[in-house]
Amino acid sequence: MSDPQNTSPNKASGEAIPVKVIQPIKVHKPDSARHDDQYTPRSHIYVREVKGALETFRRFFGGFFILLFAGIPWLQFDGRQAVLLDIAEQRFHIFGLTLWPQDLTVLAWIFIIAAFALFVVTTVAGRVWCGFMCPQTTWTYMFIWFEHKIEGNRNKRIKLDERAMDFDKFIRKFLKHLCWVILALLTSLTFVGYFTPIGALFVDFFTFGATAAATGSVLFFTLCTYGNAGWMREIMCTHICPYARFQSVMFDADTLIVAYDAKRGEKRGPRGRKMPLEKRQEKGLGDCIDCNLCVQVCPTGIDIRNGLQYECINCGACVDACNGVMEKMNYPKGLISFTSEHKLQGKQTHIFRSKMVGYLVVLAIMVGLLVADLVSRVPLEVDIIRDRNSLFRENFEGEIENVYTLKILNKSQQEYTYKVTVEGLPELKYIGEDTITAAAGEVFTLPISVAVDPALLESKSTKITISVVALEDESIAVKEPSKFLYR
Ligand code: SF4
Ligand code: SF4
Repeated sequence: MSDPQNTSPNKASGEAIPVKVIQPIKVHKPDSARHDDQYTPRSHIYVREVKGALETFRRFFGGFFILLFAGIPWLQFDGRQAVLLDIAEQRFHIFGLTLWPQDLTVLAWIFIIAAFALFVVTTVAGRVWCGFMCPQTTWTYMFIWFEHKIEGNRNKRIKLDERAMDFDKFIRKFLKHLCWVILALLTSLTFVGYFTPIGALFVDFFTFGATAAATGSVLFFTLCTYGNAGWMREIMCTHICPYARFQSVMFDADTLIVAYDAKRGEKRGPRGRKMPLEKRQEKGLGDCIDCNLCVQVCPTGIDIRNGLQYECINCGACVDACNGVMEKMNYPKGLISFTSEHKLQGKQTHIFRSKMVGYLVVLAIMVGLLVADLVSRVPLEVDIIRDRNSLFRENFEGEIENVYTLKILNKSQQEYTYKVTVEGLPELKYIGEDTITAAAGEVFTLPISVAVDPALLESKSTKITISVVALEDESIAVKEPSKFLYR
């Protein structure tokens, strides 16, 4: 009996015709695979390395932000970690500023301003955040760099993946994943180091002395980094990140986008480098030589010649690739470029349009309010709790007494001595400690009472003011209103 794998019956002759089993090649097929059938499993994208001005710019920009990210937690300020978002102690130290849970509005305000600034940048320059600053893109490019150094260029990587496992392939894959894991682990340790003292974290983690929470966090974020930058890559941008979905709302005809000049490029087609212009015109050929390089360098695997697509992260890799091709062909650069819809239509691009001016004014007001809030912020908080058991009591001297508990929170980063005074009643008697010392971050609980001759009270409820002022710096002062009750 014939082997069904290798033969096919010929009905006419009854003979078996040899057939060849062809394994599908698992290489990236950018658009056809994607658009023919939405349920087609994702094919791996073998990103081709590219050289050019934008790539150089991204590397410098990315390098600068990586240095910031890795360096900030190691900075010291006033004898402690300068930036420490201490969740366990419920306080965030940012250089000389300490934010408490009560200051969450400041944090919310900072996030709102950051989001709004991102919208403004997107309106002007499209998704440059995604292409040049987003950690997902930066880390993906770093992971691809290891892939390129260990497994070789795009063609070698495709061949390596098609090949059956052998010693060389095993070693290359092992080394690549090892480098990825080390980079992911260092990233994770640095990230967790923003939330717990980083020096101790590094030592404790590598000597197995870290707490279960710290170890678990480091392992979790290592897995996230390895998975996102090593395996998920463009899926994060095209399927998970919500920003990709609503960016188009912010776009207008003047927004900078990466676009292919179809008028100039079409009809696309291969040709010799020395084909004269007349011959090209005769054949109706545009400037696109259909080399597919712009697709091969694209980290999200799209063909920008199909127009603006939500997957495009404005990384400019296709711009560099195409400019390189244009240079070799002696054609003008810019067949693919950062441009605007208006420019593509032959109109002028307006950067400072009325919408932009409005956005910038709103942004300036928001930043101004935040700065004013931070500058006028007093690092002291006082809570007054009245005695709930009795509204008032009469003491042995026949005076009416009200009891209060003061919670004095020193929100600064140094010890202060505070003076407590009460005003608002004639000839009042202050009973209790009137000078206390609270360490940095301490909540001092101070019970006090206020006594008054009932003959001097004009009503059942009198407004009083309890003041707390730091003796070392009188600008650190809080006045809190309360009530003195009788009958
Ligand atoms: S790189 Fe430029 S020339 Fe090559 S296919 Fe893309 S658009 Fe055409
Ligand atoms: S189309 Fe060009 S700019 Fe957009 S993601 Fe791909 S390479 Fe980057």
